[in-house]
Amino acid sequence: MQPALMGAMLQDQLVATAQQSLLEANLLAGQAIDPQLFMVDAFTEIVDVYGTESALAARDYALADYAARGERVRAGQIDLAAPSLEQADKSGRWAVFGVQDEFEAAALDRLQGALTRLVLQSYRETVLNAARDHGRRTRTAVARVPEAGACAFCRMLASRGAVYGAARSAQSTKDGNRFHDNCRCSTQIARIDGRDLPRSVRHLEREWAQFSEETDSLTLSSYTKWLKEGASR
Ligand SMILES: [Zn+2]
Repeated sequence: MQPALMGAMLQDQLVATAQQSLLEANLLAGQAIDPQLFMVDAFTEIVDVYGTESALAARDYALADYAARGERVRAGQIDLAAPSLEQADKSGRWAVFGVQDEFEAAALDRLQGALTRLVLQSYRETVLNAARDHGRRTRTAVARVPEAGACAFCRMLASRGAVYGAARSAQSTKDGNRFHDNCRCSTQIARIDGRDLPRSVRHLEREWAQFSEETDSLTLSSYTKWLKEGASR
């Protein structure tokens, strides 16, 4: 299987199984003495388990990708990004205690969004680490691949192509970590010259170029407006 395809599947599977565990925990919460605290603990544990798994999956993907490009990288040469349990606890508390008691569904909704982000965060950071340390010889970096119907924010960042984690640039590392709750955009290794970028990213490159030709204000809000106007045309 093509490494990029394998990577995309791994990311989908990780999110799906983590979400399933969350739903199971939610069913058990009803029998707990303190259902809210039970959910915060369960959430942190799920992030720990799947975040760890996620980093390993990212490493497998990166190894396969570099091997396919003829670059020999060993597993020990890729820094695994550990899940942040502190962040998980914070997000869990925000989700569970940030909504009123009767809005159980709203709490679950928040937990689901944060879970997707935190599980994929370990994956994304591990791929960024790999690109930072091994991208030079293969002239590769990380591209953000938008999910279907991605928001303007994600489209804007994806339109830049394979720039993330490249050339040890602080900006590209910072932007490479910008993902919101519920975001299912994936990350993959691609050539900096754009030769093997997925079609969805090329499409966004063209879209952004057209937008920047038609406007003087290259901001997220004017891009959002421009996309809306385009959809109604
Ligand atoms: Zn996204």
